This record gives sequence, structure tokens and C-alpha cells, in this order.
Amino acid sequence: MVKKAVVVLSGGLDSTTCMGIANQEGFELYPLTFSYGQRHSREVVQAKKVAAYYRVKDHRIVNIDFFKQIGGSALTDTSIGVPQNGDGSDIPVTYVPARNMIFLSLASAYAEVLGAETIFIGVSSVDYSGYPDCRPEFIDSMNRTINLATKTGVTSRGLSIQAPLMHLTKKETIELGTRLAVPYQLTTSCYNGGDKACGTCDSCRLRIKGFQEAGLIDPIPYQIDIDWTRRPSQNMPGRE
Ligand code: ZN
Repeated sequence: MVKKAVVVLSGGLDSTTCMGIANQEGFELYPLTFSYGQRHSREVVQAKKVAAYYRVKDHRIVNIDFFKQIGGSALTDTSIGVPQNGDGSDIPVTYVPARNMIFLSLASAYAEVLGAETIFIGVSSVDYSGYPDCRPEFIDSMNRTINLATKTGVTSRGLSIQAPLMHLTKKETIELGTRLAVPYQLTTSCYNGGDKACGTCDSCRLRIKGFQEAGLIDPIPYQIDIDWTRRPSQNMPGRE
């Protein structure tokens, strides 16, 4: 019997790596992309390209205006600036309130209807963010919660959230994805979302550093020149 997986797919590097992992593990892929009032629609465009690359049967794109309505994040409210030099000491303004809890709630509903037992999400608690909804405690708790809240959790096989990047650095994620031929050329990470990545926002900087540490060249175009032979120190302050 075919195993199905719902993959929360943003069009970014991490969620696209999850597509590669789920594909490698033999799942039939059901990517779920949220258009939630991000600053730019590029993520959704790239997510469609990633879904096409993996020849998925069904790519769902869910519009959620709610985050735009409430604001409170630099990603959904244009009056809040995107940080260029975050020092990692606070939860950054790019945090979107309770985003992953809402995404995983919707993903679990979709998985239940599909008969999928597994949900993949590309969160990592290492090397970045301090977002509370990227921590293992949250994923463990949500795993319990979705099984309490769903029919399949009560009467059948239940659902399982897999966060295979949880304990990987960006470098390790890129190395894993490269082994799995993940199409990084189709992904986007820049908070500013232009045709070329800015190379200076926090998200670009983390991505560039990951490729540099892995000794690889990022295939996406940047607005600035980047020395891909540079090997940054690997013990940049990370957050657990
Ligand atoms: Zn950027």
C-alpha cells in the first residue's frame, strides 16, 4: 500500500529538503503550501516549482488572510522592518505568531482526510531563530495534540509529525539535501523576495553560511558577490 505524506512546503530550503527526504523514504508526496500574507508571493511560486520537480499529483495552496490581518511580524506587516544583522539574542521580529501550530493543525486535518499517517515539517532548533514553534518540545507536544484531536488518532493508526531537520545545522541540512538531489535552485530564502536574493538579510546570511560551510555553491542568484570558497567558523552562536 502506498504511504502518503503531507509535507508543509514553503518553497524554502528546509521544507524542500523535507520533500527530498520524504521522497527518498518512499512516500507519495502531498505538499501543502500556505499563502499567509508573506511580504512577497515568491515563496508560493517557488513551492509550485518544487512540487512540479517532484511530480506530485496534488499540491494544495491554502490562503490564510488572518496573519496579514493581525500583523505582528516583519514577514506579514510591511511597517515592521526585516532585520539585516540579527544577533540571535532575542526572538526576532520575523517570528509569525503561532504559525507552525496553525500550519500543523491544518496539515493534520488534511492528512486525516487523505489517509496520510505522516506530516513532514522542516523546522530546526539549531543554528537559527529561537522561534518557540521550532523547538522539539513543541513538535512533541503537537504530535500528542493532533492525535487527541483527530478521529484517526482515537480510532485508527494516528498521525505522526516528522521534523527530520530538527537537530541539523544549515550546513548539515544542505549536505543531506545535496546527497538527495534536492533542487535548491528552485528554492527561495530571502526575506525581501526579489528576483535575486539580497544576500544581506538574516535568512540569506544563514543560507550563504550553510553553503560556505558545506563547501558548496548556492545555485540561486544573489544581488551581491559572494565568495563561495570562504569557510566561516562553524561555531557561530546557535540556539537550542
Ligand atoms: Zn535576503
